[in-house]
Amino acid sequence: MPRIAYVNGRYVPHADASVHIEDRGFQFADGVYEVVTIVDGRLADADGHLTRLARSLKELSIPWPVKPATLRFVMGEMVRRNRARHALLYIQITRGVAPRDFKFPKNPAPTLVLTCRRTAFQPAATLEKGVSVITMPDIRWLRRDIKSTSLLPQVLGKQKAAEAGAFEGWMVDDQGFVTEGCSSNAWIVTTDGILVTRQPSNEILNGITRLSILDCARDLGIAFEERAFRVDEAYAAREAFISSASTFALPVTRIDGHTIGDGKPGALSLRLRQAYMDHIGSTDPVSAK
Ligand code: PLP
Repeated sequence: MPRIAYVNGRYVPHADASVHIEDRGFQFADGVYEVVTIVDGRLADADGHLTRLARSLKELSIPWPVKPATLRFVMGEMVRRNRARHALLYIQITRGVAPRDFKFPKNPAPTLVLTCRRTAFQPAATLEKGVSVITMPDIRWLRRDIKSTSLLPQVLGKQKAAEAGAFEGWMVDDQGFVTEGCSSNAWIVTTDGILVTRQPSNEILNGITRLSILDCARDLGIAFEERAFRVDEAYAAREAFISSASTFALPVTRIDGHTIGDGKPGALSLRLRQAYMDHIGSTDPVSAK
């Protein structure tokens, strides 16, 4: 797979791609992003990601660098030029280059960058065993609904999880309720068999995968509730899983060292994973290996 990046109108070799040192993305993390997964050469849930990108830009008053239809075209070009099969497409838009000053520049020229990276997804053994998560305080700002590039709490959280041998960190609010994963949404299946994930608000990022999985649950007639759940409820849950563009629905079998259910990926989690694959029109790249 060749590595081609896109920077402000130009397709360039990834190694040569760069932005200015006074880009506000670099100076202030004044930007937004999306990660779209490419499965079997096809962009998964691209429309949903573009809709959320539009919302993030609007919330931060960052103008579109190009028309949405042009971005859609560039996304396709990135798949083609990188000959991407299983890969992650990263899209970042910042408020652009300006002398360092907190206030918005008068005539912003937003920066648009796309990169594409091959991904192997999780190995089949991970899917068979499920992953572990640890919980940690949620120390983020209160506009988590915006997919901002300001990710320091998640950088620290992911590092802490990795050092503890866990796949993901679940962040917990002041009242003891799980908000979401550092880079995923958090789900449980209660002892009564109800699927639960936190309701969208400023306190979580409304995952595009989350929304699609809820659609799948609706189609399958699976009972679900959008509400907050406490860490204790998660420990006692029948099943747990995380969702994100790059992990799809990925079963969680340990939380803070507590075994979830019988310690194996749950049936409902796997059913929803399959339903999500059907929704994006792909064979599971993990089990297909
Ligand atoms: N929550 C957070 C904090 C994230 O960073 C992500 C993805 O990066 C998600 C949830 C899942 O969102 P999506 O399903 O759109 O990838």
